[in-house]
Amino acid sequence: MKVRLASNLQADSIVDGEGIRAVVWMQGCSHNCKGCHNPQTHDFNGGFIADTEDIKKGISELKLVNGITLSGGDPMFQVEPSLDIAKYCHQLGLNVWCYTGYTFEQLLKIAEKNPKMLELLNELDVLVDGRFVLEKKSLNAHFRGSTNQRIIDVPQSLKLNKAVCVKKYELKNNEDKKGEGLYI
Ligand code: SF4
Repeated sequence: MKVRLASNLQADSIVDGEGIRAVVWMQGCSHNCKGCHNPQTHDFNGGFIADTEDIKKGISELKLVNGITLSGGDPMFQVEPSLDIAKYCHQLGLNVWCYTGYTFEQLLKIAEKNPKMLELLNELDVLVDGRFVLEKKSLNAHFRGSTNQRIIDVPQSLKLNKAVCVKKYELKNNEDKKGEGLYI
């Protein structure tokens, strides 16, 4: 299956989720957050076309990887290839994180009309959601750029139909508690 990427598979990130992770950098994003770190990933005609079979092969050959992270860009603009990769990673026993500029609630709305989106959500373990907000930029926020972004336990959230955030990543000053979401 074709997918548009911003760069080749990254084998060894420790900043894009828990543990040592491979990162799939998707091309294309229209959220246009002020201060975005990856503006080169916005253009839906930029980057290059790859095949998910090659990405899956690359992932299968990696050693010492805890999981994979779908990032970009916004992987939610390429639902089917994201789903293809996420499914395969679960078959390998790897956990799957995904970054998106959409909120969990917005994705649920999209999923009402797009069954593939629901399928994709069902293949995610953790979703880091929401646009990057420059005014809320924080260096203390684990694995995210701004405090409005949430680190969401997706299986729990789908079960309860409400965003459930991962307790251990709660900010000490409760800045991110101002957002919606339970903490577990
Ligand atoms: S969602 Fe992410 S990639 Fe897209 S503009 Fe915002 S920070 Fe940049």
